[in-house]
Amino acid sequence: MFSKVLSSAVAGVSGTEIYVEADVSDGLPMFTMVGYLSSSVREASERVRTAIRNSGIMLPPKRITVNLSPADIRKDGTVFDLAIALSCLLAAGLVPEISLDRTMILGELGLDGSIKPVNGVLSMVHHGYSDGITDFIVPSANAREAAIVDGARVFGFSRLSEVLEFIEGKANVRPTVYEAASEEETSTDLPDFSEIRGQEMLKRGLTIAAAGFHNVLMLGAAGAGKSMLAKCLPGILPKLTFQESIEVTKIYSVSGLLPDTGTLMKNRPFRAPHHTVSEYALTGGGAIPRPGEISLAHNGVLFLDELPEFKKSALEVLRQPMEDGVIRIARVQASYTYPADFMLVAAANPCPCGYYPDRKRCRCTPRMVSAYQGKLSGPLLDRIDIRMEVTAVSGDALFEEASGETSESIRMRVEAARKRQEERYAGEKIRFNSQLSGKMLGTYIRLSDSQEEMLHACVTSGDLSARGVYRVMRLARTIADLSDHDAIGDEDLTEALFFRNSNLPIEGSVIL
Ligand SMILES: [Zn+2]
Repeated sequence: MFSKVLSSAVAGVSGTEIYVEADVSDGLPMFTMVGYLSSSVREASERVRTAIRNSGIMLPPKRITVNLSPADIRKDGTVFDLAIALSCLLAAGLVPEISLDRTMILGELGLDGSIKPVNGVLSMVHHGYSDGITDFIVPSANAREAAIVDGARVFGFSRLSEVLEFIEGKANVRPTVYEAASEEETSTDLPDFSEIRGQEMLKRGLTIAAAGFHNVLMLGAAGAGKSMLAKCLPGILPKLTFQESIEVTKIYSVSGLLPDTGTLMKNRPFRAPHHTVSEYALTGGGAIPRPGEISLAHNGVLFLDELPEFKKSALEVLRQPMEDGVIRIARVQASYTYPADFMLVAAANPCPCGYYPDRKRCRCTPRMVSAYQGKLSGPLLDRIDIRMEVTAVSGDALFEEASGETSESIRMRVEAARKRQEERYAGEKIRFNSQLSGKMLGTYIRLSDSQEEMLHACVTSGDLSARGVYRVMRLARTIADLSDHDAIGDEDLTEALFFRNSNLPIEGSVIL
């Protein structure tokens, strides 16, 4: 007898349907599996047969053949176990013949017949549902995650025997209903801006960055609080929209990093990979590619502390995704695309010892300083609109009352500035000022004659490069949006020039 059921695999961050066929015929007792399988899928034959036996069912001593199709997709992982078991039981006539045409079956089997959770359930259910699949049999630990897909009928089970009772109509199981996480579950341990004493200029710079989605470079000695400030950034970014939440949750689900609660991710991601991170860990990779740090930072913040310490090759690979908002990874069997639209916040010491240009304390030679700064990739710096110098808070300021504005209140202003940009770029492919190309600048940014003269003077004096002018214009537009100005005011432009910070030592080095 022959049977066919539906399961799914993950390609990139999206699901793709996989059919599991089984045939039971007379002949020498054998269990064969075919269909472009990785070794982890081949091992399913042992897991499935043992799980069936330990659920109190004996497979007949016959020839059993299982095929996973389509044949051109490489199958990996344990997600097909449950579908393979059901398809064998159906083909052997051990389960009443019922229609599972519009049912997707996902789950790993334990030897004892238990059903274990798998990665990427949201992606697979989301894709299946959009393809007309209505019912989903999933591990109970993944049921809440699957039920995020509005309209899908999700049935969660923790044992193979429970699934069989359900199929036989012996058990009345209700579909899982998705309930949004309570506030405690979404609360975050990220710090709040109001907890930071002093550093008003830096807070302002990060507010502007958040409003226009500008990349940021913070230059300053170790211990000046660069990491702490960067960690505050997700708290002032606008709340994730539902669509953005789904995108982020899919990436974390595929990576197996979704919190146990299996709910929609509500907070903007913050990723801070160490400078020893490999190229692959940053961009994603492996034989069966997995999302890397830049995708885990999608819709959030990627913080690279001690930027000059990163491998040059690792920084080079950031350029294409920073341009496109996605990363493409080619493999022999397929090519994968992962979203990677993140805000880059980089931090660097100005020199190996960290004290340059304080000549009283810095003991580095000019050659050492320039070599250190030269490690920053020029084209990467080109994508960074805001450069700020970070100095440690003075002893006095440390004991002052922290009177700063809360992240919540800053976020309101950021959201208002974002709304202005949304309306302005409604007909364009871009969403933020930071994405304005040189060509678009002329359409969307008008400067007065005196403002143009001001910029011109900066170029003539060598304080600003031609590209630098574009960055200043984009920044000025965001600052004007934050102040609810339709036209860029002189004070907006002056502040933009300040955050372009042409006095930073890095500005004079070879790389710019
Ligand atoms: Zn030094």
